[in-house]
Amino acid sequence: MMGRGTKVVKVGNVEIGGENPVRVQSMTKTPTVDVKSTLRQIRMLAKKGCELVRLGIPDKDSALALGKIKKKSPIPIIADIHFDYRLALIALEQGVDKLRLNPGNIKNPKHISLIAREAKARGVPIRVGSNAGSLSREILEKYGGVTPEALVESALNEIKLLEENDFTDIVVSVKASSVPLTIQAYRLLSSQVKYPLHIGITEAGILVPGSVRSAIGIGILLYEGIGDTIRVSLSASPDKEVEVAYYILESLELRRRGIKVISCPMCARSHFPVEKVAKEIEKKFKDFPLNVTIAVMGCEVNGPGEAKWADIGIAGSNNRVIIFRYGKIVKETTWEKAVLELEKELEKWKEVNSN
Ligand code: SF4
Repeated sequence: MMGRGTKVVKVGNVEIGGENPVRVQSMTKTPTVDVKSTLRQIRMLAKKGCELVRLGIPDKDSALALGKIKKKSPIPIIADIHFDYRLALIALEQGVDKLRLNPGNIKNPKHISLIAREAKARGVPIRVGSNAGSLSREILEKYGGVTPEALVESALNEIKLLEENDFTDIVVSVKASSVPLTIQAYRLLSSQVKYPLHIGITEAGILVPGSVRSAIGIGILLYEGIGDTIRVSLSASPDKEVEVAYYILESLELRRRGIKVISCPMCARSHFPVEKVAKEIEKKFKDFPLNVTIAVMGCEVNGPGEAKWADIGIAGSNNRVIIFRYGKIVKETTWEKAVLELEKELEKWKEVNSN
């Protein structure tokens, strides 16, 4: 995998870019004016490992709620603003850690300067970027439609508007819901800018198709060393976005978070409810504090051998269950006690590995 080597941008106490880990972010789906629900969602996201959270700011009341949210948020907050420069200024006054806005939408150069000056004075970075659905008519005409070049030119125009105001604390995105288009656009963009890149597939869809599309798009880019922060956009609860983001990072061996459950696909040899047990283990040990790989295998004939690299494993047979470590059987038990016995083994594993 190639290195990223982008500029480092600081969002509150979280650094994006350079050699920092790929940061996981999400977006709240509550009305921002509803401070209580929004904070509840932010806390849930932070617990899942979300490191930055974006909030939509559709109006003045939402912007004015940011101060209260910021005060209690366990992670840096990002204000997402579309056209109204006044909302950006209020968000900055309220202490947000980052802005998502396109200066091209603000239009008036004086207002753009004002935002750049106020953001710079506070050390607040700005994410700019293009979206396939909102390219200008000029760019669409020039390129004959939505192309990687069109997306990149649009993003570069946004960057220029900030650079002209001596503002370089920038994160960039070029999003589309087409996976190939997104990949091509980010490849082109990363060859032209050194700013950290926010990557994702926009409007990816509902949980399963959206996760697959996101995993392919984000995964290919990350594998090529492109991308400093990711957001998985799903029509689902935002904690699912964070969960999927970590599965993507874990699959590429870029980041780990707690347990990793692997399980066999089951076949005629299996007399063990692999799926049910794997789900139970995922749920029960989701907050396990150390990185540990647990294998759930359908049979003891092939299971321990196939999963001998897993830290701990469990395999079923006709009337018993075995627990193994690195392929070697350490315990025999019954189906009913299997998860309990696994828990004991995990405790032992924790004792040995936390020192
Ligand atoms: S571990 Fe056993 S049950 Fe699972 S796929 Fe392999 S042979 Fe089949």
